[in-house]
This record gives sequence, structure tokens and C-alpha cells, in this order.
Amino acid sequence: MLINGKNVTSEDEIPVLNPYNQEVVDTVPSASQKDVKNAIQSANKAKIKMKSLTSREVSENLYEVSNEMKKKIDEFSKMITLETGKPIKFSREEAKRAIETFKLSAEEAKRIYGETIPLDACRAGEGHIAFTIREPLGVVAAITPFNYPLNLAAHKVGPAIAAKNTVVLKPSLKAPLTAIMMGKIIDTYFPDGVINVITGNAKMIGDEFIKSDLINKITFTGGLNVGKKIAKSVGLKKLTLELGGNDPLIVLSDADIDKAVEAAVKGSYLYSGQVCIAVKRIIVENEIADEFSEKLVKETKKLKIGDPMDPKTDIGPLIDLNSAINVEKVVKDAIKNGAELLYGGNREKNLFEPTVLDYVTPEMKVVKEETFGPVSPIIRVKSIDEAVKIANDTCYALQAGVFTENIHKALELSQKIEAGAVIINKQSTFRTDNMPFGGFKCSGIGKEGVKYAVNDMTREKLIIFAPK
Ligand code: NAD
Repeated sequence: MLINGKNVTSEDEIPVLNPYNQEVVDTVPSASQKDVKNAIQSANKAKIKMKSLTSREVSENLYEVSNEMKKKIDEFSKMITLETGKPIKFSREEAKRAIETFKLSAEEAKRIYGETIPLDACRAGEGHIAFTIREPLGVVAAITPFNYPLNLAAHKVGPAIAAKNTVVLKPSLKAPLTAIMMGKIIDTYFPDGVINVITGNAKMIGDEFIKSDLINKITFTGGLNVGKKIAKSVGLKKLTLELGGNDPLIVLSDADIDKAVEAAVKGSYLYSGQVCIAVKRIIVENEIADEFSEKLVKETKKLKIGDPMDPKTDIGPLIDLNSAINVEKVVKDAIKNGAELLYGGNREKNLFEPTVLDYVTPEMKVVKEETFGPVSPIIRVKSIDEAVKIANDTCYALQAGVFTENIHKALELSQKIEAGAVIINKQSTFRTDNMPFGGFKCSGIGKEGVKYAVNDMTREKLIIFAPK
């Protein structure tokens, strides 16, 4: 762990397993309650030094972090694959994005603006001068999931530091290693205690965050259940929640079918579907459903399953055995309830085959809940209205993809679909790190994307000068 600029170990070490071969990649310490309190206190102490840095210094140091990470891109990519089982070509993409996230944060550090307020628009304000400034919040606690262990941590830490906050980061125990590597690089460019990274019992650490009066904001990315627990007890702390998704890919009868199939493959199977914005429901108009499903099977068959270290591998293991068993259960349940298995469906330990299911209905578990696995469930519909109704009939509302060649239908659906982003002629997995990102309903509260996260990492203060 990293606390107050120092490596901290503990007698209790927790192994981090490679999901592909179950070998121990490394171990991380199990934080004691005292360690967590120390990390929070060290972040609290570092607030003063951090606030005294100029925006130029913060920006330049964040550029250095980005450059240093770029030099270590091979190590980062390899470590993401070792700790998550993510195919190396995707891990490299994630490392590149994290490098860019820090670059965007460096840029944004110089753009934290307030505004002038024309108080004289109201009678009582005549002669006054007023403007706002944006101040850091103080200490930010960040909790991150296993699936993008580096870039999702970067999405919280980069903006928090850009806005001159200090951070205590708690990565997932399933994949904590790249977050620790990132923390150590940040630590070399900022005062001790600006970044602290702790590992250990999630509930204990989460509860300490919630209890602590020194923490001003909790920013959480992960599943709905944990997100709800935090939301219930967070009190007056600021809160960002980036939660799950059940993103639809809607394919209308006038769509370019080949492109829609390509999007379904990219969206369903990216990191074996263990992505919040993975395509989790494919809603297809009846007229083209036969052709679509036939082509989807053909393209799915081309995917290479196996060792995630092999640059040609498309599909690696799921994060652990339980996750794979869970995917198998919901696929079997769908088949039992009338879905047609067109391809895949088999599991070997925690490797699950890319799987195409047709004639899926909205009440089947595989689409009713968030399925974190390489599954393409096709739901056939009679009309656009039915497509919209099914797309919105979920508690989640993260992103959505719509395939149509008709601009009027595209506009209609973009307005009717409940999602943080509706993407025309591309799948929901599309994301750049500068776009506003975040869903509605059960998908969370607040926005990420560097500029938007920086804004959420500040508080706005109004300063008023009364007339002479
Ligand atoms: P998870 O909810 O199991 O864990 C997320 C983090 O919360 C981990 O660090 C975990 O250790 C921690 N945690 C667990 N219990 C806690 C508690 N009681 N208090 C505080 N922290 C606790 O999620 P996961 O399995 O790591 O990730 C998958 C989930 O994350 C999916 O639902 C996925 O959709 C979601 N996700 C969302 C986004 C997004 O940006 N919206 C991005 C990636 C993943």
C-alpha cells in the first residue's frame, strides 16, 4: 500500500490471482483499521501543501505522471492482463487511455474557472460586484472496480488532483496492482500524502470512509448493490456513483446489417462482456432478425479464445469461477425458458465461450439483470415502439446504441431512449475520456469524463463586493 509517501506492508497478505491460470501474480497487504485512518489523516494533512501549489505546477506534474506512465506502458499493459485476464491488446488500449486521462487532467487543471454574476439584475444587487471561484473539496475517497483497474482509477484520481484535492484510493482486491503502480508514479511528483492507495477488506475500508469527518467526497465505480449501500449511509458527503448497465443495441430494419453485426460483436465480447457499457441486449426488428442472427453467429465463430497474453486472443477468462458459473446459470435459464442457443454456451473453469442466444424475451434473467459475460442475447421485436419500450424497461440507463440509416428515426430514438448517452450507428462501448459519462436511474449519479469530474471535485464559492 502507499500511505503518506511510504510503502506500507502488513502481516496479512492477500494473494492476487491470475484469472487465466490461477497463479499468484503478487500479494497485497490487508489494511488494518489503523492503516485506513492513517491514510485518511495523511491525505488530510497533505491538503494544505496541495492547495498551495499553483495550477501551473499541478498541471505540469500531471503531465509528468502521464509521461512516466507512457514510458512504462508495457509494464502496465502486462500487469492489467495478469491481474484481470483481459486480452493483452485490450489491456494496452486501457493503458493508453489512462495515459491520456492524465494528460486531459493536466490540461483541465488550468481551466478551473468561476464566473461573474450580474447582481444588479436584481434591485438589491445594484452597485455590487460578484464572482465565483472554484475551490478543492479536500480529501476524496475513491473506490474502483476490477474491470478497468487502471483507467477507472485514473478517471477519479486525475481530476481530483487537477482540482487540488488529495486522495485515498481503494482499488478492487481482485485487481489492485496497476492502481498501486499508478499511485507510486503520482507520489513521485506530488507532496507525500496527496495520493494514498490502500488494499484490504472492502466493507471495513468503505465504512471507515463513510464514518470519517475528514473525507469530503466519495467517488465510487462498481455494482449497484454496493453503490446503494454507500448512498444510504454517506450523509452529507458529496457523492458520485458510476454503477452498472444493461445497455441495448437497437437494430432497425433499415440498418446497415454488417455494421450492426460488427458493433454487436465488439460490444458484447469486449473483455468477455465484463464492461459496464457492454452491449447486454440486442433488440432487432423482425424483418432483418434472421439475417442479423446468422451473420452474428458467423462473426462470433471467428473469435479466438484462450491465453490473454497472446496478442491474437479476443476472449480470455472471466475474472473468477463464480462469475463464470453465474453466466452459465443465466444462459441455461434462458434456454430452459425458450431461448434458442445459436452458438457457444460452454464453460471450462472460468472461461466462458462467446454465446449467441436468439428468441430471448425481456423477462429472462440473462437480460433482466446485468449479465457480466460474453453473451449476445437477441430480442426480436415487431416495431420501433416495442424496441423503445423494451430498451427502457430496465432499472439501468447507462448508454445505448441505435442502428438505422434514417435520420428521423435516429432522432426519435435518441430522445425516447433513457440513457446517459445514445450513440447512433455505434455500440454502447464507445467512450472517449473527455466526454461526459454517466447514466441515469440505477446506473448512478454524477458524471465522469475529465472536465465533468473536475467540476464535481470542486465546490463553488461566491464572493461579493458591496458598493462603496
Ligand atoms: P463491486 O461493486 O463488487 O466492487 C466495486 C468496488 O467496491 C471494489 O473496490 C470493491 O472492493 C468495493 N466494495 C465492495 N463492497 C464494498 C463495501 N461494502 N463498501 C465499500 N466498497 C465496497 O463491482 P465489481 O465486480 O468490481 O465491478 C463490476 C460492476 O461495476 C458492474 O456492475 C459494472 O457495471 C460496474 N462498473 C460500472 C462502471 C461505470 O462507469 N458506470 C464502470 C465499470 C464497472
